[in-house]
Amino acid sequence: MDAMTSLTTPCGCYFNLDHPRNAGILVSLATQNRYKDSKKLWSCATGGSSSKRLSHSFKIQALPVEVGTEKLEGSTDSKSEVLVWPSPGDEIPFWKREFPSWDASSEEPVHVEKDSDLMHIVHVTAEMAPIAKVGGLGDVVTGLARTCLSRGHKVAIMLPFYECIQKQHISDLELITSYSSYHDGNWIACNAYRGLVSSIPVIFIEPSNQFFKGQSVYGGSYNELEAYLFFSRACLEWLQVTRLQPDIIHVHEWQTGAVPLLYWDMYHHLSLEKPRLVLTIHNMEYYGECSQEQLSKCGLDGSTYGTVDKAVDDRTIGHNPERLSLLKGGIVYSNAVVTVSPTYLNETLCSGWLASSLIRNRDKYSGILNGIDTAMWNPATDVFLPAKFHANNIEGKRTCKRFVQVGLGLASEKGLKNGNQVTDKVPLVVCITRLVAQKGLHLITHAINHVEKLGGQMVVLGKASDVRVEREFEGLANLYNQGSSVRILLMYSEELSHMLYAAADIVLVPSIYEPCGLAQMIGMRYGAVPLVRKTGGLADTVFDMDDHSQPEKANGFVFEGIDEGSLNSALDRAFSYYGEKPNEWIRIVRKVMEIDNSWSNTAGKYINVYNSIRVRR
Ligand code: ADP
Repeated sequence: MDAMTSLTTPCGCYFNLDHPRNAGILVSLATQNRYKDSKKLWSCATGGSSSKRLSHSFKIQALPVEVGTEKLEGSTDSKSEVLVWPSPGDEIPFWKREFPSWDASSEEPVHVEKDSDLMHIVHVTAEMAPIAKVGGLGDVVTGLARTCLSRGHKVAIMLPFYECIQKQHISDLELITSYSSYHDGNWIACNAYRGLVSSIPVIFIEPSNQFFKGQSVYGGSYNELEAYLFFSRACLEWLQVTRLQPDIIHVHEWQTGAVPLLYWDMYHHLSLEKPRLVLTIHNMEYYGECSQEQLSKCGLDGSTYGTVDKAVDDRTIGHNPERLSLLKGGIVYSNAVVTVSPTYLNETLCSGWLASSLIRNRDKYSGILNGIDTAMWNPATDVFLPAKFHANNIEGKRTCKRFVQVGLGLASEKGLKNGNQVTDKVPLVVCITRLVAQKGLHLITHAINHVEKLGGQMVVLGKASDVRVEREFEGLANLYNQGSSVRILLMYSEELSHMLYAAADIVLVPSIYEPCGLAQMIGMRYGAVPLVRKTGGLADTVFDMDDHSQPEKANGFVFEGIDEGSLNSALDRAFSYYGEKPNEWIRIVRKVMEIDNSWSNTAGKYINVYNSIRVRR
């Protein structure tokens, strides 16, 4: 091994390698593979010992590190760990470091009581966490499937084999069926693969045409509506080819809304007899606008669905041409329809153009509150966290907060105290969301301003699909990211989202409407107190600290109006609790962490729905 006496890192920092103080930096660079000559670095950092192996995780054991690292206190992990602290100038941002692989299924409680009457359930979906997730749909499918599996049911998820799926997250991937499925006058060759994603069986459908190619789940350069119509039929075709007769086919959102039409008007007349259909509506605003010609491309006669009692979009009646809605078709043709919270159920029956269809189908329509996947979202075992914690020991949460503050260049409490500038604690507010109008964009931008005024810190992690929204937030990022109290990060990062929930004192969800909302529930599990607008599932899960009518439920801060003043008053109240009642704050942090929003609470309601429609023969 050549001797190295000095080093200039990829980000331009000079280090004298003879100085013992620099050992930590070397270890940090070597373990992150950030320097092309990591082996030399490792040798320098460890005094040339070849027995030490490179670790790609945060955990570096028994090494003499002094700079940029810290021995972890209060970690719930018994192993001796040393934390490599990030810095905003890191060439590889801290959320893009390599993390240990994680099979969330190993977190499952061992003694889940099995159901006596077992079923075969197949989900047909456009999203699944974590491999093909854009928002809550992916989380819900994975969490519900995992819980039903643990209760003894046979469950599989059918998913398009998006080109962007990272195959290293799939185990035992194998090609199981080559077959063809109809699209627009042709039979398209398809491959069906089977694999396990954190122990959940998944069937991936890969067509040989351009569908589902591209760098993201949605927004590829193919016709999305036609791709999902194709996928809907290809899933039923696969069930027919393989002669499977599941008890339940559970479809989600407009993307798979054509499955019930295809099932009852085509495949049920062929060989699929047993399955019954459940549709979950995660968001009524996305209704799958579709022309009769487009629907015909999947082999149905689109012209026969343009009636009020079938799939016509009621608002287009009398227009030329009238349009169809795949979501409405799904509502009409499914045996049971579920939406994702009791309050959203009532809201959808009272407003919106689909209300009349839902009222007509009221007897099969119910509201079941989503759960969160507590195997995937567990601060005591989460591999993305620099320190683990749980309700009885939240010391690790402080480390997570400081880690994020340091990594993002926000003034950290420790840094401030050392500099004798500020002794007050600074509350950290996070908002993790798709940046769409539904999420209350004007309230998010206002919160940034108001939190800064109140002396707090705020991180927004968001992704916009609309270019104008993206530009607006880019402008805000340019303005605020220079300072030391706000960070606006315009991207999707599963890893960073975990770290931010763990770091946050307050999780902000100011939605204009919110069918269920997972961010507030995940935030609570990670000890972040929710501050939400009272709508949909937010109203079912967050109860105001100052509402003395039900003190046992109080778990956050709630506002009702969509104006900035309403948000201000909730933020003001939260900040004064945080600053003036620290013991009360700790009590509420512990309380929210102990609230059970898991699927084990609500999956049973889905199983009741399945049981109420299944055919027993
Ligand atoms: P929706 O389904 O409307 O997007 P939910 O609150 O039900 O909203 O679920 C959002 C899910 O997506 C949560 O798991 C949240 O952490 C995640 N999420 C949203 N935006 C991002 C982002 N930019 N990066 C990482 N995760 C995100």
